[in-house]
Amino acid sequence: MTQLTSAPSRGAQRNAHDADAAEPAVQIRQLNKHFRRRDGSTVPAIDGASLDIQDGEFIVLLGPSGCGKTTLLRSVAGLETPDSGSITVRGKAVFDSGTGANLGADRRGLSMVFQSYALWPHMTAAQNVRYPLENQKGARQGRAVMNQRVAEALEAVGIGDLGGQYPNQLSGGQQQRVALARALVNNSKVVLFDEPLSNVDAKVRESLRIELLAMQRRFGFTALFVTHDQAEAMELATRIAVLDRGKVQQFGTPDEIYARPATEYVAKFIGNTNELSGRRADGGYETPLGLVRTPQDVGERATVLFRPEHAQLSRERPEAASALAGQVVAVLFMGTHTEFLVRSGETRMRIWVSGRSTDFAEGDEVWVGLQEPDVMVFPRQDHDGQPEGDD
Ligand code: ADP
Ligand code: MG
Repeated sequence: MTQLTSAPSRGAQRNAHDADAAEPAVQIRQLNKHFRRRDGSTVPAIDGASLDIQDGEFIVLLGPSGCGKTTLLRSVAGLETPDSGSITVRGKAVFDSGTGANLGADRRGLSMVFQSYALWPHMTAAQNVRYPLENQKGARQGRAVMNQRVAEALEAVGIGDLGGQYPNQLSGGQQQRVALARALVNNSKVVLFDEPLSNVDAKVRESLRIELLAMQRRFGFTALFVTHDQAEAMELATRIAVLDRGKVQQFGTPDEIYARPATEYVAKFIGNTNELSGRRADGGYETPLGLVRTPQDVGERATVLFRPEHAQLSRERPEAASALAGQVVAVLFMGTHTEFLVRSGETRMRIWVSGRSTDFAEGDEVWVGLQEPDVMVFPRQDHDGQPEGDD
């Protein structure tokens, strides 16, 4: 076994951040980066972002297009210079606006996999993978050693027989495997991924995701992975950082983010939600459909959210903490679940029952039951995303 395959196996490490791990793999502190647009306006691409990433974690940066994911990743890589803040990689300050430290990308000890694969078209798969070894600073290896490591890297990503092919002779999924082999060949301890699966078709994406996780565990690298796809984030991440306009809205495990979203933005971005407007009342919030009971108090006016899979449908008024009346206006069988569209006045709710359910039909009068822990309330936002009446 060579260096490539002898890295310690780290296991899933879902709780890596709980252990008192020694040194964070990557530490981002109060990072800021503005871009100036052509019209002279400035965009805060990164706005005071701080993250502590432990060794062996699989971190996903999640958010819609334009929220700053790529800029943050490129800042860690050394391809973008932040305005202020600091970045430490495995104990080494690679950027610090305070001291002026700013290491070049090739001296940060990390690898990056791009959405576009970024393979050299005039080089074979094997030559592409060998490229970082040939251009390595410091101890350069002999040709035989390099070739051996290239062969092992290609083997590790499942394309051991395709080393002689040129990129245009490979499928998208195979090209991305070449890019991954190139990222692993250096034995980097931190690997950055910028939406690497978004250009391959759905089936290949599924299997690449699973293989990527297996490889991460086998090689033991720390992954910092950017995506706008919440399902992908849930599947891959030990922890997810949800970004909104350059700000980290929440940094937590997929479970935490799903069950206890810190903000309305996070609640709506992860999973599906039904929304009611509420006014503070005795025991909860009064909505157009009746009282929704909750011990939470977020102010006079609230947005009340609950997930389609957390409500129960019944014909009789349920015992549940809250009961909202409505009428079934559509029934959709989705394969894994049945979606009942329930309407009451202007309000429409989606309620999911697992599997195929024929318990209710279009036109039925029904009750929607909600348990207290499944109700999420947030201060009512105005159109600027600011809490109303806050200033
Ligand atoms: P994401 O990867 O989440 O889609 P980006 O990091 O690419 O977001 O962009 C964040 C914001 O910064 C966007 O508003 C984008 O338009 C802007 N931006 C990114 N790069 C530049 C640039 N080189 N010049 C001007 N604006 C930029
Ligand atoms: Mg991007």
